[in-house]
Amino acid sequence: MISNPNDPALRSWAPSSPDSDFPIQNLPFGLSSRIGEDKPFAASRIGDQVIDLASLDALGAFSGIDLPADIFTQKDINGLIALGKPTTRAVRQRLSEILCLDSAYIQLREHSTKWLIDIHSTHQYMPVSIGDYTDFYSSLEHATNVGSMFRDPSNPLLPNWKHIPVGYHGRSSSIRVSGHSFHRPYGQLKPQDGPPVYGPSKMVDFELEVGFIIGKSTEMGDQIPIQQAEDHIFGLVLFNDWSARDIQRWEYVPLGPFLGKNFASTMSPWIVTMDALEPFRAGGPKQDTPVLPYLETTGPKTYDIELDVFIQPEGGEPSRVCQSNFRYLYWNMCQQLAHHTVNGCNMQVGDLCASGTISGPTPESYGSMMELCWGGTKSVALADGSERKSIQDGDTVILRGTCRKNGVRIGFGDCSATTLPAKS
Ligand code: CA
Repeated sequence: MISNPNDPALRSWAPSSPDSDFPIQNLPFGLSSRIGEDKPFAASRIGDQVIDLASLDALGAFSGIDLPADIFTQKDINGLIALGKPTTRAVRQRLSEILCLDSAYIQLREHSTKWLIDIHSTHQYMPVSIGDYTDFYSSLEHATNVGSMFRDPSNPLLPNWKHIPVGYHGRSSSIRVSGHSFHRPYGQLKPQDGPPVYGPSKMVDFELEVGFIIGKSTEMGDQIPIQQAEDHIFGLVLFNDWSARDIQRWEYVPLGPFLGKNFASTMSPWIVTMDALEPFRAGGPKQDTPVLPYLETTGPKTYDIELDVFIQPEGGEPSRVCQSNFRYLYWNMCQQLAHHTVNGCNMQVGDLCASGTISGPTPESYGSMMELCWGGTKSVALADGSERKSIQDGDTVILRGTCRKNGVRIGFGDCSATTLPAKS
């Protein structure tokens, strides 16, 4: 009997605490290895345990699903994703059947030590090889806040903003999986009254974003019609698009973000599938300016994902500094993808498109320090009594994302990284 893997009533025999991001209703995809073995395998997750899909496959768990040999032991899961949603959906469905309380897969459960591994005994890799990374600028509140601070408070939005999901091409080489650290970047900084100087950025900032992973490649010249856009998205991750505001502010005219953005970005390790997110589908803000037909969408096209940002000083406790929600975004992912490909730009499996900073309507929902501290005129208080206007050396920034409905809670796992002093 096939059950619905999103059924709120489903329970697993594998332990998972009520506050885990990974109950049986989630079953995301990632890439892991056992600590000490640099042998990556495609993985999923339940509670505090990593599911080794390669070992499960060796036990015959995926019989009846058309999978190439060694598909779970590649250096990334691009090949697995490229098999298409009917296949990855069947894998997730089978995992649900294996892990559910009344599972018929009794032998697999009896041999669970071969394929269920405590998270602390594993290492997480970047799950996908990202060919191209695109960053949008889709939060009305964020664009308004930044326009107010960088340009003109009386007219913060540029004329194109409500007609085009504005974006730019980022750099994929410096995207790292959660848990990494990076050095404070150097660059050109422009004092208010004087020529530019060279030095370490004094204004390292986070950007609270959600990214989507492309699940279906297209050919050059092809468009992705907006009605088909969801089918091209494999799943979502949390994304911290680290920024150096002082470098950015001086360099961004006229071509936009460059060295203030491309020194580091952090991605959460588990790709939560569009299928798992389906129960949390939600509507976004009303778009008050008519869009061209290729950008018209109907029905709810976003997801209710509560987003939190924490700053953890070296040796200290994390303090929450921001609470936002994915559904605050003005432009939805379907519009972003339809716009991205309207000129025939080809997309490849594993490409990452990020939302841009997700700020909400209230000051505590602003998704960057620049906004939370309003250009340095305010500061954020941390639990240890210290204050921040930007990210300091030794600070770890942690993003978390949570969906809740009908007694089910799923999440993404931490998206965390630490700022180190500038290299001498
Ligand atoms: Ca960004």
